[in-house]
Amino acid sequence: MEGFYHKFGISDRILAYGERIEEGLRERFAQIDKIVEHNQLKVVSAMQEHRVSQACFQGSSGYGYDDLGRDTLEKVYATCFCGEDALVRPQITCGTHALALALQSLVRPGDEILSPVGKPYDTLEEVIGIRPSRGSLAEYGVTYAQVDLKENGSFDLEGIRKALHPQTRLVTIQRSKGYDSRPTLSVEAIGTLIAFIKGLRPDVLCMVDNCYGEFVEEREPLEVGADLIVGSLIKNPGGGLAPSGGYLVGKKECIAEAACRLTSPGLGKEVGAGLGVLPAFYQGLFLAPSVVGSALKTAIFAANLLEPLGFDVLPDSKEPRHDIIQAVTFRRPEGLIAFCQGIQAAAPVDSFVTPEPWDMPGYDSKVIMAAGAFVQGSSIELSADGPLRPPYTAFFQGGLTWAHGKLGMLMALQKLYDAHLVSDL
Ligand SMILES: *Cc1c(COP(=O)(O)O)cnc(C)c1O
Repeated sequence: MEGFYHKFGISDRILAYGERIEEGLRERFAQIDKIVEHNQLKVVSAMQEHRVSQACFQGSSGYGYDDLGRDTLEKVYATCFCGEDALVRPQITCGTHALALALQSLVRPGDEILSPVGKPYDTLEEVIGIRPSRGSLAEYGVTYAQVDLKENGSFDLEGIRKALHPQTRLVTIQRSKGYDSRPTLSVEAIGTLIAFIKGLRPDVLCMVDNCYGEFVEEREPLEVGADLIVGSLIKNPGGGLAPSGGYLVGKKECIAEAACRLTSPGLGKEVGAGLGVLPAFYQGLFLAPSVVGSALKTAIFAANLLEPLGFDVLPDSKEPRHDIIQAVTFRRPEGLIAFCQGIQAAAPVDSFVTPEPWDMPGYDSKVIMAAGAFVQGSSIELSADGPLRPPYTAFFQGGLTWAHGKLGMLMALQKLYDAHLVSDL
């Protein structure tokens, strides 16, 4: 095995340091394995309950009437995530699209959306109209209110109480911190927040942006009172196999509204061909608990590898995890660049290219990205990026297998070492 690592350019010194860190993580990795086991049983049980069979993999074209594979997959998702119904479609192009679909279908002119956990994910700003944009909800007369988390990361309950206006129709709760610096919410914390909101206003819908959170814990937000969860299939629940797509799971009414928005009033869930990708959706969901476990191990390994070397890591090396994202702050551009180049060099695809910072549309500074993925833009595969501005933070996530995640981290550390950005290992 050392021979292979040497072939990748990883020195004995880096390897020995990595082994020492991994050794200290046995107990945490065992806890993750238990969560994987629980979630694997949950998925298989849902597949059996709905009698998944070869006939589900036939696929359909055209209108896609009576597509058994599509209808069964949606039942499997509903059971798996504890909802009444689901919409799981290749016609949902990404996470933002799934979230837009939910928001656009559940509010009407004059209604208000409230985010009680601070600013939502960047792309939602244009969906809602926080930043003016063509087709935003603001253009349709939907208003928006926001209550930030308190300094210590807790909910501002008094602020939320005041911000629940008579016109508030929907509360949007983002589970993962995404690329923000606030804490990610545990499922338990989401439950507490929803109980508080429903206690004041039982009629308000609570939607959870579940991106990056699926299968990280044993429970999901629908089990603690959410009406709807929404996410992307090129993140956790696609298990690395789904080539595209998004999902919504929740109350029957919510799913019916969203389906009529995705297709058309009167058609709803009845149309939408499988286009031959549903087998990958099934198999990806089957693998997802295990893949998420690998991504979690990779993130925890990275935090434990880099924290003792003086880099700021968020979450830190000890914290419990509620999503798969890891942030590392290098304080110097060379560190961020070396780290991303290491991740790229470990990739199964495009390992021979060297990522460089570039002026990406929509960003106010250069951005560097590492992604040697089978599915373009997939962030359940090992991937990293960060803006070239102080404090030079890399956000990374994914790792379809733990062994590959480990290789990525060792390569990244080797690049940092070669660039003289770390010394005493
Ligand atoms: C990724 C993400 C989204 C948007 O998903 P895309 O597939 O990139 O459009 C929304 N919210 C959160 C928290 C995310 O992590």
